[in-house]
Amino acid sequence: MGDGQPRSHADDGERGPAPEAGGVPVSLRITVDTERCCGSGMCALSAPDVFDQRDGDGTVVLMTQFAPPGRELSVRTASENCPCGAISVSTTVKAGYGDGKD
Ligand code: SF4
Repeated sequence: MGDGQPRSHADDGERGPAPEAGGVPVSLRITVDTERCCGSGMCALSAPDVFDQRDGDGTVVLMTQFAPPGRELSVRTASENCPCGAISVSTTVKAGYGDGKD
């Protein structure tokens, strides 16, 4: 790095092609359980474009239902590091796949 060349998505340690399962493009679906959330804010540190916190009590606010392309690792990290187990992730076939729109 530092050579003035633009970085490709493949060399920043996270961004890259969308994850696939057997050649089928998948999205990472995110769900949060606000009843379990204890407001530690770890998720918002790991993926601030996906998780925010409510003013006042710090309860997680999910800003998108699916991980943005290239942010899957950050979302998985947030889920794994949540001290309350309030974040769940699952893979799902990408919207539009197989309907002739992609
Ligand atoms: S890391 Fe878990 S407990 Fe902390 S704010 Fe996020 S969802 Fe809530």
